[in-house]
Amino acid sequence: MKKTVKDIDVKGKKVIVRCDFNVPQKDGSITDDTRITAALPTIKYLLSEGAAVILMSHLGRPEGEANMKYTLKPVADRLEELLKIPVIFAQSPQVVDEEVKKKAESLKAGEVMLLENVRFRKEETKNGADFAKELASLADIFVNDAFGTAHRAHASTAGIADYLPAVSGFLIEKEVKFLGSAVENPERPFVAIMGGAKVGDKISVIRNLLKKVDTLIIGGGMAYTFYKALGYEIGTSILDADSVDVAKDLLETAKSLGVKMMLPVDVVCGREFKNDTETAVFSCDNMPGDMMGLDIGPETIELYKKEIASAKTVVWNGPMGVFEMETFAKGTLEIAKALSRTDAITVIGGGDSAAAVEQFGLADKMTHISTGGGASLEFLEGKELPGIAVLEEK
Ligand code: ADP
Ligand code: MG
Repeated sequence: MKKTVKDIDVKGKKVIVRCDFNVPQKDGSITDDTRITAALPTIKYLLSEGAAVILMSHLGRPEGEANMKYTLKPVADRLEELLKIPVIFAQSPQVVDEEVKKKAESLKAGEVMLLENVRFRKEETKNGADFAKELASLADIFVNDAFGTAHRAHASTAGIADYLPAVSGFLIEKEVKFLGSAVENPERPFVAIMGGAKVGDKISVIRNLLKKVDTLIIGGGMAYTFYKALGYEIGTSILDADSVDVAKDLLETAKSLGVKMMLPVDVVCGREFKNDTETAVFSCDNMPGDMMGLDIGPETIELYKKEIASAKTVVWNGPMGVFEMETFAKGTLEIAKALSRTDAITVIGGGDSAAAVEQFGLADKMTHISTGGGASLEFLEGKELPGIAVLEEK
């Protein structure tokens, strides 16, 4: 177990917190502040415990240059509204300079300051030791609360921990707790549901999960690569041609490990890749050559729902079909509903799966929805994330 902010004494200390304030913006104003509100519990806790809080984050991809299109000023303004106390914005193209150091030095308990976008510095994404040291020089303690970038070894996510005691904030604590215990210590039966566009992107996740699960359910675009491996006609469905052999190997691995691997038994096909196209349902071994599979079929939905209903832990990554189009959203919606009804621990990882669950209004019915797309996938691969590896053990 990693130490969290609750395991250390922060009173009278300067605490530098890596947040994920990479918020979507339009014309310089924030269109969704979820990531800012998500960071508030850790910030408020530190303030109430008598720390002086220095916040840092990246925003977009300024590629190591002080491009004001990516300034964190709008985030400072929104933070001020949400915290209802002044937020000192330490604007500097260097992120850390003499002026910023002075500001940090005079920061008192209960006060907050925000540094400029850490990716204004080239050294950030290269995990440059000098920049990490400069950031560390501002504070006494490092808190990582940015799960979405925890799979990157950057100066502000990993390097800084070489110079300061390092612990997690509440967001990372929650991610580690749910993703970690779901995968490492699951209540059984443990069912994983994998979908999305391509097998190629998720081979390592599937390989790792096969070692842990009782049942692996496959849906979405990746199902057709498995069909191909089984010699089925897949028409014009999405095919990850480079992964057909891997798919074969995964099917064999599942068999030898005694894992129940479920592929869709029927599919909803479309003539073209659009919402108002001609559709028809076919069984998996009877697809026509001139249509594409865009969702799991009704029989499959029933089988998958049954499997979910008897599970004690369910991890889901990747939509069951092209849920962005209403005509092909049913499979994903029904799986989301099944997850929302069960008492099992339900963990959602992956950007599009999380978006689907949000879109259906079922987010609050899940045990945990991971905030990190790439990071949650690497976690499910069983990799140790650099931004978490550097944190102190309890
Ligand atoms: P996540 O972000 O949850 O990890 P992915 O990025 O792997 O998921 O995949 C999501 C995408 O997969 C969605 O945009 C969805 O439209 C697409 N997809 C799902 N099923 C199919 C299919 N049968 N054919 C083509 N694309 C599909
Ligand atoms: Mg995605």
